[in-house]
Amino acid sequence: MEFLDQAIVDYVERYTSAESQLLRDLSRETYGKVLVPRMLAGHLQGRVISMFSHMVHPHQVLEIGTYTGYSALCWAEGLQDGGKVHTIDINEELEEIVARHIEEAGQSNNIVTYLGNAIDIIPSINETFDIVYIDADKENYANYYDLVVGKVRKGGYIIADNVLWSGKVVEPEENRDADTIALVNYCEKIHQDSRVENVLFPIRDGLLVARKL
Ligand code: SAH
Ligand code: CA
Repeated sequence: MEFLDQAIVDYVERYTSAESQLLRDLSRETYGKVLVPRMLAGHLQGRVISMFSHMVHPHQVLEIGTYTGYSALCWAEGLQDGGKVHTIDINEELEEIVARHIEEAGQSNNIVTYLGNAIDIIPSINETFDIVYIDADKENYANYYDLVVGKVRKGGYIIADNVLWSGKVVEPEENRDADTIALVNYCEKIHQDSRVENVLFPIRDGLLVARKL
C-alpha cells in the first residue's frame, strides 16, 4: 500500500534537501548488486534520520540492522565530536560494501560495525545511548527493545522503522503474517510502557519514536 499520492511524494522529496553524492552512489550500488534493495532508507528517510541526528546531536547511537550502511551514514551526520554510531548486522556478505563506503565518507573513526546476531551483540556493547534505531528482523523488535531500554539515557530515543509495514498493520487480523503481528505487538508494547512517551510518524514505512522519561 502506498500511503501518499505519488505527486505528494514527489513534492515532499522536491522540498527535502538532496542526499550526498556518496549516498546516491551507495544507493545505486545497492540497487545494482544486493538483494531486497527496498530495505535501504533512501533519500527522504535518510534526510529525516540526518535531521533527527542533528536535532539530538548524539554522543552514542546504536543501530540494529546496518544493511549496506546508508542509514548508519545518515545517523553519523549529526554526531558530537568523538561520538559514535554502533551498527550491527548478521549478514557478512554486506561487510565489504559497508566498510568501503564508511571509509570513503571519512567516517571510519565514527562508525563501529559489528557482525553477528544483534541479540548476542547488544549486551556486549557497554555504552549509554542517546538514540537506538531498530531496523532489523521484525519478529525481534520487542526483544531488541527489552535489551536496549536500560541502556538508553533519560530523554534518549528508541526509534523503530517499518512499523506501518506497507499498511498491512491495518488489514483484518486474519490476513496478518508473522512480521505484521510482531510489528503490531511492538507498537502495543511501547504504547503501554509508562517508561516512554511515543509518536508514530507516518514517514515512508512508519517510524515509532519513543522518548525515555
Ligand atoms: N538500516 C538499513 C536497512 C536495514 S535492513 C538502512 O536503512 O539502509 C535489515 C537488516 O537487518 C538486514 O541487513 C539484515 O541482514 C539485518 N538483520 C536481520 N536479522 C538480524 C539479526 N538477528 N541481527 C542483526 N542483523 C539482522
Ligand atoms: Ca527499514
